Amino acid sequence: MPIDYDLVIVGGGLAGNCLALALQGIGLKIALIEAQTAGQLYASAAGDRALALAAGTVHVLDTIGAWSGIAAKAEAIRHIHVSDQGHFGKTRLSAEKSQVDALGYVIAARDIESHLTALVADTDTRLFCPARLTGLVSGHDSVNMSLKFDNGPVNLTARLLVGADGGQSSVRKLLDITQHTTDYGQTALVSTVKSTLANHNTAYERFTRSGPLALLPVSPHHSAVVWTRRHDEAEDLLSCPEADFISALQASFGYWLGELSLVAPRRAFPLSLIRAERMMCGRAVIVGNAVHQLHPVAGQGFNLGMRDVVQLAEFIRTEHLQGKDIGATPLINSYVRARQKDHSHVINLTDSLVKIFSNDWLALAAARNIGLTVLDRLPMVKARFARQAMGLSSQ
Ligand SMILES: Cc1cc2nc3c(=O)[nH]c(=O)nc-3n(C[C@H](O)[C@H](O)[C@H](O)COP(=O)(O)OP(=O)(O)OC[C@H]3O[C@@H](n4cnc5c(N)ncnc54)[C@H](O)[C@@H]3O)c2cc1C
Repeated sequence: MPIDYDLVIVGGGLAGNCLALALQGIGLKIALIEAQTAGQLYASAAGDRALALAAGTVHVLDTIGAWSGIAAKAEAIRHIHVSDQGHFGKTRLSAEKSQVDALGYVIAARDIESHLTALVADTDTRLFCPARLTGLVSGHDSVNMSLKFDNGPVNLTARLLVGADGGQSSVRKLLDITQHTTDYGQTALVSTVKSTLANHNTAYERFTRSGPLALLPVSPHHSAVVWTRRHDEAEDLLSCPEADFISALQASFGYWLGELSLVAPRRAFPLSLIRAERMMCGRAVIVGNAVHQLHPVAGQGFNLGMRDVVQLAEFIRTEHLQGKDIGATPLINSYVRARQKDHSHVINLTDSLVKIFSNDWLALAAARNIGLTVLDRLPMVKARFARQAMGLSSQ
């Protein structure tokens, strides 16, 4: 029986679209299935979240032709300032000392998502949108899928299926891959503030008694806020008058940027760590948030997903150009093996940061303050930390 596609990607978010773009120009027949139309994606409140892109991620976006169209909308991070509320420890990283132009960039998720969607629409990739994957069976030579498209059923076959369909992945569920969920009991509050003092391209990460707080530069006097609070506190902060929100924010953040005022709606994202027990089954594999949905404390979610995409695209490209079957088990196994160390490292790092910095137990507070102070005084260790924050090093 003829196979419809070499590759079917389920999910046209950041990971799925980047994978489609990374595999252009080598003669692969690709289809992409996405549940939301471009208009729905653009209008979604989730698009308001600001993403800190590591330098490594920006480099990949550039390589796949996706950076030049959004570079003007992104703000460079040239300094990172990490502090612990009420304690002396702090550390600072700078692009200049790391001998790079920028430690990373900040961009609204909406801007990058809609740009990637438009770029993929301009390629030979067959788009099924709005369409939802409803069933799949992985066989010996191909994987068979059923979708709901234009309110009717469609069946497709492919050599390889990639599930890039996010934290609530249908592919993961249909493959019966167990997921491990850690509910942090926390919500990320997201908004944008204007400040009387310029941020000088500084990203602030402040660990407060009530949870981590990040202010990321989006223009000289505007910063995106990502503030983690317990669910009940977040609910209060979402519904309280703006003035109360700002005074609570100011009390947690301090006056590093002078007086703050709110310039965008407040949005809420409940937080949990979701980790898939396996990444493959037969001719299907999962990438990005479908494998690992992280707490945003270290801004690593998409950066980690991008490294999945790069690795998988490299394996597929090499096998395809050698005339081999891109859905064969050895290829998928190599991909899975290649990604495990990075996944464990980033997941454990992020999870530990949440736990260590959400705890005010005296000994722990002292230890983390000593840690931050020591880090500030050890150039080699700090340089390693900076490389990691930039996504230039995953270990
Ligand atoms: C508040 C917050 C702040 C963050 N900050 C950062 C940051 O600073 N840096 C960073 O690197 N990361 C950050 N992240 C994480 C980042 O947003 C995610 O890691 C990233 O969006 C995951 O991309 P993805 O493509 O894997 O999944 P998603 O973006 O979830 O995309 C999945 C896509 O699949 C589609 N889909 C789902 N089910 C189906 C189906 N059955 N059929 C067809 N299509 C389907 C969905 O419509 C969606 O378009 C943050 C997250 C949050 C919540």
